[in-house]
Amino acid sequence: MTAIEFSHDTVFGIDNLPYGAFSIGGGARRIGVRFGEHVIDLRTALDDPVFDSPTLNAFMAQGRARWVEVREQLTDLIESESLPAESVHGIDCVTLHLPFEVADYVDFYASEHHASNLGRLFRPGTEPLLPNWKHLPVGYHGRSGTIVVSGTPIVRPTGQRRLGAGAYPEFGPTAQLDIEAEMGFVVGTPSPIGQPIGPDEFAEHVFGAVLVNDWSARDIQAWEYVPLGPFLGKSFATSISSWVVPLLALDNARVEGPGQDPVPLPYLRESRSWALDVELTVSWNGYEVAHPRYGLMYWSPAQMLAHMTSNGASTRTGDFFASGTISGPARSDRGAFIELSWGGSEPIIVGEEVRTFVQDGDEVVITATAPGARGRRIGFGDVAGRVVPSGRAR
Ligand code: MN
Repeated sequence: MTAIEFSHDTVFGIDNLPYGAFSIGGGARRIGVRFGEHVIDLRTALDDPVFDSPTLNAFMAQGRARWVEVREQLTDLIESESLPAESVHGIDCVTLHLPFEVADYVDFYASEHHASNLGRLFRPGTEPLLPNWKHLPVGYHGRSGTIVVSGTPIVRPTGQRRLGAGAYPEFGPTAQLDIEAEMGFVVGTPSPIGQPIGPDEFAEHVFGAVLVNDWSARDIQAWEYVPLGPFLGKSFATSISSWVVPLLALDNARVEGPGQDPVPLPYLRESRSWALDVELTVSWNGYEVAHPRYGLMYWSPAQMLAHMTSNGASTRTGDFFASGTISGPARSDRGAFIELSWGGSEPIIVGEEVRTFVQDGDEVVITATAPGARGRRIGFGDVAGRVVPSGRAR
């Protein structure tokens, strides 16, 4: 039995307890919980084989009552200093992996400021928001197989793009590699075909949240996206953070959101908003360049899930959906470099260098915190990625 030493300033305190998949020294992957600068091996701590698994999926599929129970058991073990000593590992001794096996992946477009900015950049001279935007959370199906864990190198994608209006298209490495700072949500409890998930059933189905960097090749995207939407400009890589913050840890982060006008149709109405006050920081080669605020998003994650299943589509454990770029009214709120540089026309100062889009060798790190219990904050860890040249895996 052991007591874990930790600082009360940590964003990984007892009110957080996020889940991840880890291994030690090339051994088998298993499930752990982050506490302070430690990882608690749940198979050893709770003597439950569901955690002797390379992903969280089996545990997530057990449902909300079980998620509550495990969180209580773990909290008791930590507070009573009764964790088996062999269940506790230093964070520096473990390797972190993709925390869950991704089933289907949907990316939304839920920030009014981001959608307006992109509308102005991609369709100058027209109404920036299309007529459907305030009536439904716009989204598209992404590629689940290219979702990678934080730290995975990002190979600069190649593709077809047109360098000027009327020019003949060319094929080659993207010249406009960008990021999108987002929040993502993973489904634990599945739902059958024909049974939509209402906004107030969100917490029954969604296990937790991660940070997302939806890498985007703007030149490929701009040429390919009409009329069917994003495709190869998005599907080459999407990075997520290693730790899944359980929804159970986010009660203190719930806020009202910015309000919706017009009032959405009844199937999208929440009795209490699932808008979440999460503050993100985007760092580029170590320099902070943006501070997007998730609490400003027009559509909440519960509304996104409700819309995604409103046609009767089923969900599976591991289904993952992301918010879309988080942007706000201020320049410092902008969660994509195409917005920060206004389409490449306003260079961004990154330390001693000037950037518009991401160059080979650049590293982008997104971190975030949210209100926790007793005035403290809880952390999401980070989602990091360094860009390597086209045609080279490492
Ligand atoms: Mn996106």
